[in-house]
Amino acid sequence: MAKEYAMVIQLAKCIGCQACTVACKQQNKVPEGQYRTQSPAIGPTGTYPNVHMYFEKEACQMCKSAPCVRVCPTKASHYNEAGLVLIDADKCVGCKYCITACPYKARFLNKETGVADKCTFCYETRVAKGEKPACVSTCVGGALHFGDLNDAGSEVAKLLAKAKKEVRKPELGTKPSVYYLYEGVVR
Ligand code: SF4
Ligand code: SF4
Ligand code: SF4
Repeated sequence: MAKEYAMVIQLAKCIGCQACTVACKQQNKVPEGQYRTQSPAIGPTGTYPNVHMYFEKEACQMCKSAPCVRVCPTKASHYNEAGLVLIDADKCVGCKYCITACPYKARFLNKETGVADKCTFCYETRVAKGEKPACVSTCVGGALHFGDLNDAGSEVAKLLAKAKKEVRKPELGTKPSVYYLYEGVVR
């Protein structure tokens, strides 16, 4: 059976350390001032002493029906053999159509290469070799999980089977592969 890669984020475990942000920048040589992922603080909300805050990892949602792929005039943005949205640097002309089309603001024009850039799930550098993405391997709080949803024994499949999950902007029909678990988080 084909793999269905997914990332699962347990918000209650994220301590906002940004180790994921740094690991991603190092792994993927992301230029200074640009990011494939960050985990900004949401909040604080409430009134003292009942004040709450959490951190929510942002990155490409690895849509299975991706607007960025649809608008790319050169097919540089494409689904690879594992169904993940990647960018073929040789084909990208830097037109920014994909950057405008992404409803998650996940893309940017890499200021060193001039090519559209975003999270790749570290597919070519790590996942294709059997490793986890850099952010997942580095996550200090144990908030990040990655694996194949078509493997019922995988950590991600087990987590999603028992938890209440959310995807971002489900109403857009983009079918994200990044799932957010808010259990234990006060919103
Ligand atoms: S989150 Fe944006 S960049 Fe990522 S696959 Fe979806 S539309 Fe494309
Ligand atoms: S999967 Fe890789 S490219 Fe994506 S946010 Fe994590 S470290 Fe960055
Ligand atoms: S490394 Fe893990 S705990 Fe730290 S900010 Fe990133 S997701 Fe949160």
